[in-house]
Amino acid sequence: MRRTLISSTIATVFSLASFSFAPAFAAAPEATAAVPHANVTTQLPRTVRPTHYAISVIPDAKAATFSGKVQITVEVLKPTSSITLNAADLAFQRATLNAAGNSVEAAKIDVNNEEQTATFHFAKPISKGSYTLAIDYTGIIGIQANGLFLVDYPTANGQKRAIYTQFENSDARRFIPSWDEPNYKATFDLEVTVPTDQMAVSNMPITKKTDLGNGLSVVNFGTSPKMSTYLLFFGAGDFERATVDADGTEVGVITQRGLVSQAAFPLAESKKILREYNDYFGVRFPLPKLDNIASPGSSQFFGAMENWGAIFTFERDILLDPAVATQGDKETSFIVAAHEMAHQWFGDLVTMQWWDDLWLNEGFASWMENRATNRLHPEWNSELSVVGVHQYAMERDSVASTHPVVQHIETVEQASQAFDEITYGKGESVIHMLENYVGEDGWRDGVRLYMKEHAYTNTTSNDFWKAIEQATGKPIRTIAHDFTLQPGVPMINVVSSSCKAGKTTVALIQSEFKRDASTKKALTWHVPVTAQLIGTNTVATTLVTGGKGSITLEGCGPVVVNAGQAGYYRTVYPQKMFKDDLLANFTKLAPIDQLGLLSDSWSLGLSGQTSMSDVLALTTEAAKSSNPQIMAKVTSIFGSMHRLYNGDPVGQARLDKVAIAALSPMLTQIGWTAKPDELSTATKLRDQLIGTLGEVNDPATIDQARRYFAASVASPEATPAALRKVVSYVVAINADSATWDQIHTSAQNEKSPLIKDQLYELLASAKDKTLAQRALDLASTDEPGATNSAGMIGSVASRHPDLAFDFTIAHLKQLEKFIDGSSRSRYIPRIAGNSSDAAMIGKLEAYTKANISPKARRDSETAIANIKFNVQVRAKRVPEITAWLDNALAGFSAAK
Ligand SMILES: [Zn+2]
Repeated sequence: MRRTLISSTIATVFSLASFSFAPAFAAAPEATAAVPHANVTTQLPRTVRPTHYAISVIPDAKAATFSGKVQITVEVLKPTSSITLNAADLAFQRATLNAAGNSVEAAKIDVNNEEQTATFHFAKPISKGSYTLAIDYTGIIGIQANGLFLVDYPTANGQKRAIYTQFENSDARRFIPSWDEPNYKATFDLEVTVPTDQMAVSNMPITKKTDLGNGLSVVNFGTSPKMSTYLLFFGAGDFERATVDADGTEVGVITQRGLVSQAAFPLAESKKILREYNDYFGVRFPLPKLDNIASPGSSQFFGAMENWGAIFTFERDILLDPAVATQGDKETSFIVAAHEMAHQWFGDLVTMQWWDDLWLNEGFASWMENRATNRLHPEWNSELSVVGVHQYAMERDSVASTHPVVQHIETVEQASQAFDEITYGKGESVIHMLENYVGEDGWRDGVRLYMKEHAYTNTTSNDFWKAIEQATGKPIRTIAHDFTLQPGVPMINVVSSSCKAGKTTVALIQSEFKRDASTKKALTWHVPVTAQLIGTNTVATTLVTGGKGSITLEGCGPVVVNAGQAGYYRTVYPQKMFKDDLLANFTKLAPIDQLGLLSDSWSLGLSGQTSMSDVLALTTEAAKSSNPQIMAKVTSIFGSMHRLYNGDPVGQARLDKVAIAALSPMLTQIGWTAKPDELSTATKLRDQLIGTLGEVNDPATIDQARRYFAASVASPEATPAALRKVVSYVVAINADSATWDQIHTSAQNEKSPLIKDQLYELLASAKDKTLAQRALDLASTDEPGATNSAGMIGSVASRHPDLAFDFTIAHLKQLEKFIDGSSRSRYIPRIAGNSSDAAMIGKLEAYTKANISPKARRDSETAIANIKFNVQVRAKRVPEITAWLDNALAGFSAAK
């Protein structure tokens, strides 16, 4: 699954920081009897095991219900008089157990809504052996992406309705009564009855289509390989499909009718990615076809899902509408496909035993998406993105409510909360660090061994470490365990650097980087640390153990630690060394180390561990860079500082003045119009600069955006396609009532679901509080469409968290249907998490106590930790920034 929050909201792309949120925690693993994985957590008795499902489903999309029949081939492992499996929101008509011509009907069927199980009781005990359990049942088609769900969308030919499934982590049980846990792998035959004029799609190709003559057809799909329930997929609607051949696999994209041309780029790229992966994994993609199905709409928590052979992606993350697509959209389309395709191996072919090891799916797919991007699109210069990945993980990992990468999961809700920054971002960072430690080739050999040994089965993290150690002969388990079994971020403190007899020795002490006032003793890690003599090729690596270490380099000179930025830790230098060695030699650092130093410093500055004036001196130095990725980081720091002054218009106006002075020359340099052959990083920087200058109230940028916007009303071509999104964004965030109404009318009339969704999101982006309130009111109606409302409230929350939270709590009942059922314990805390008002802490605590089960409170705890941190930054760091502004502004007056 790929998370939505980083890439897709308009605000996060152009100027605002993303939301922060997280997972839950639990007690000790429960020892359960019998096979196949005796010690794996389960909600089900281990007495019966499925091997095959033959499913027949008749959806009634109009009525939003379906009827189903399933025949499950099961092995009874111990005599029993009842069979328990997972089921949610299903009603049962009949169940029989069949063996060798004998059929016994279940005497009683018990449904447990709390546990999401159904138990079939039989009059006589069932002996060990093979049986077929046949069940007739009915279920519902929802409006959020859990189980079988429908999406209504506008087209030039009127409203359409398509249906799709989304099962990860535990919603297959809404579609089939099943052993809905990842280690119960089985094969699947699916048969569906759908309107004859619609296209039906599943994991495997269609083997038979029978026209019933009544407008309906029965469609049969080929038998799937052995796989986990959460990977099954079914979709049907008025679709179009385009295909290419890749190494003998039919690669396809499926879109709503009329949009298949917008998928030309991801289709061509998927072909390249598949070839790359066939080679890298050493095991060919095992299914006959691989589709990527694009759906209108969105979800609060995911953009795409790796169903085996039938990837599902929301249109916003795959299609490129030539009218509005940006360079960022193009890269997202590639990266999301690369992520989901990596899962076809990491997750689908080899699956974690239980959700404890979810990172074996998500950390690895995240790492692989970046590897594929670097290899297939070197022109995007994405190798620096590793720094951003560290930041995103370390932010989450530096408060007390964090958790280890491998964590014990007990409940469905906890599994859903595990899709977080730690599982994805820290997982990816740790993989990158260990790959760097053992070498790329050895790592690849280990991955190949792991795939070969564990294909079609389930694993834990230790199976992976074993394969890497076997392939490379390098012991990595101690480091791997330190970084995956204990939480937190190591901090490498440079104590001193001295030169003797032509060698530089750097003394290091390891502590822990924390953003909250946790008094817990610092943990220790085995940390691989790399250092470089600045401006030379002299590099050395050491393993810091037991809390300290040192590195010796040939030659004398200033040193940068974490050179290459492969290490998952923060580095802090003594103040004199920071100024004399790092700040003074900033331009001699490799761009990736410039970015690493800036990112570490900004974060250490906010948490009070480096002087804010030093950090801002570094930022000022970095602002002189001509590297678009460094300029982008400087831009985001100014955007962050602007937000620190929210609610203080006078302070904010002073900050804005300095921000505009720093950023507008960058925009002048880069221009509003793309230059032929410019770097793609420059293209993306243009969007970010325009967005941020619009955010910090630069009159020139806002005027220019308004001119483009006004001209586009008469003729859409008046604004270059690449600028349309950011121009609308700048206009929308600075909207007055009349402009808001104008965007609202456009949203109502828009026929492209993708653009329509964007327009509703823009309505929720206004700085003006009255307009933000109107957006909230609109979001609580059916007008924006079922999957847009939660996103709109999220957008309001990124700017007006207190307003959005109070509104959501006051209208909880009304908003319930717009929020993914399994995600509620994450969604509400996330709305509050951007607040810097101490009063929010009590409000969120009260909500949590009343509404969130004690086992699912980690997102709340994290949001509260973030709010406390925001309050502390306001109180302590903002005055330091204000003092720096005084100097900067005095400099401006002196220059005049
Ligand atoms: Zn994923």
